[in-house]
Amino acid sequence: MADRLDGKVAVITGASSGMGLATAELFVAEGARVLIADRDVERGETAARQIGNAAHFIKCDVTMEADIAAAVAMAVDRFGGLDIMFNNAGAQGTMARIEDMNTDDWDFTLSLLTRAPMLGIKHAAPEIRKRGGGTILVTSSSAGVRGGMGVAAYAVAKAAAIQLVRMAAGELGGDRIRVNSICPGYIATPIFGRAMGVSEEVADKMAVELAERFAALQPLPRGGKPRDIAEAALFLASDSGSFITGIDLVVDGGMLIQPSVDINDPTNNAVAALLMNTQRDVTEA
Ligand code: NDP
Repeated sequence: MADRLDGKVAVITGASSGMGLATAELFVAEGARVLIADRDVERGETAARQIGNAAHFIKCDVTMEADIAAAVAMAVDRFGGLDIMFNNAGAQGTMARIEDMNTDDWDFTLSLLTRAPMLGIKHAAPEIRKRGGGTILVTSSSAGVRGGMGVAAYAVAKAAAIQLVRMAAGELGGDRIRVNSICPGYIATPIFGRAMGVSEEVADKMAVELAERFAALQPLPRGGKPRDIAEAALFLASDSGSFITGIDLVVDGGMLIQPSVDINDPTNNAVAALLMNTQRDVTEA
C-alpha cells in the first residue's frame, strides 16, 4: 500500500532528524505532502531536498508561538490546507535533579515539550477543522508514563503532554479531529548524543551503534528504530485509526511491561553506562 495518506497535508515538527524525518519520508511515500518544521536549517533543507517536491522546509523554533503559527500558515499557502499536525520536536532539556533545579531551565524544558504541542494544537485545529477533520499527534515518552526513566523536567513535561492530548481529544472530537500521542521506548536517534553534548558526527554514529545495543533494554530483542514510530504515526493519521482518539500509543518493544534492566533501581545506571560506552566506542573507532 502506498496511498494511505493520498492528498493529505502534514506539518511535522523536528522532522530534520530521527523519528520526525522517518515520518516525513513515510508520509510522502504514502501520498502526503509534508512541511518539515525544524530549528536546524541545514539538516531541514537537506531533508526536504532528499525527499523531493512533496516536502518543503520551514525554519521553526517550536518554543516560539509565531514560528508555529507561520508553519501552519505555510502549509496552507503552499499545499492548500492542513490535515495532519505532528508535534514531535524535542530534546532532553535540563538534566538537573529537582534539588538543583534552575527555574529558567525547568521553564524552558516544559516550554519545549508541553507548551509547544499545545501551541501546535491551538494553531492547527482551526485549519484542520476547515477540512472537515483530521489528525493531531504528539510525541510523548515512556519517561512520561512511569517513574525512574529519564530526568524530572523531561518526564514531567512528557506526562503533561499525554494529558494535553486527552483534553484536546475531548475538545476537538466533535469536529472529527482526532488527537493522539505516541509513546516511544528507547529509539536509536541522535537525541542521545546531542543530550551528551557530542558533535553531530558522533551523535549520528552513536545512533547507528545504539540501534544494536538498545536490543538489550526490552523483551523484544531488537533496538527501536525511527521507522517504528513513523509506522505508528501512519496508523494513527490514516483511516486505519479513524476510531481512535485520546490515547497514548506505546511503541517500546515491551519495555514498559517488562524492562530487561531494572530502571527503577536508583543504584542501577545500566542505560547511562550503555550510552557512555557507546559514545566512547564510536569516538575511538
Ligand atoms: P532527534 O534529535 O533525532 O530529533 C528531534 C528534532 O527536534 C531535532 O531535529 C531537533 O533539533 C529538533 N528540535 C529540538 N528543539 C527544537 C525546537 N525548539 N524547535 C524546533 N525543533 C527542535 O530526536 P528524536 O527523533 O529521538 O526525538 C523526537 C521526539 O521523540 C522528541 O520529542 C523526543 O523527546 C521524543 N522521544 C525520543 C525517544 C528516543 O528514544 N529517541 C524516546 C521517547 C521520546 P536539534 O538537533 O537542534 O535539537
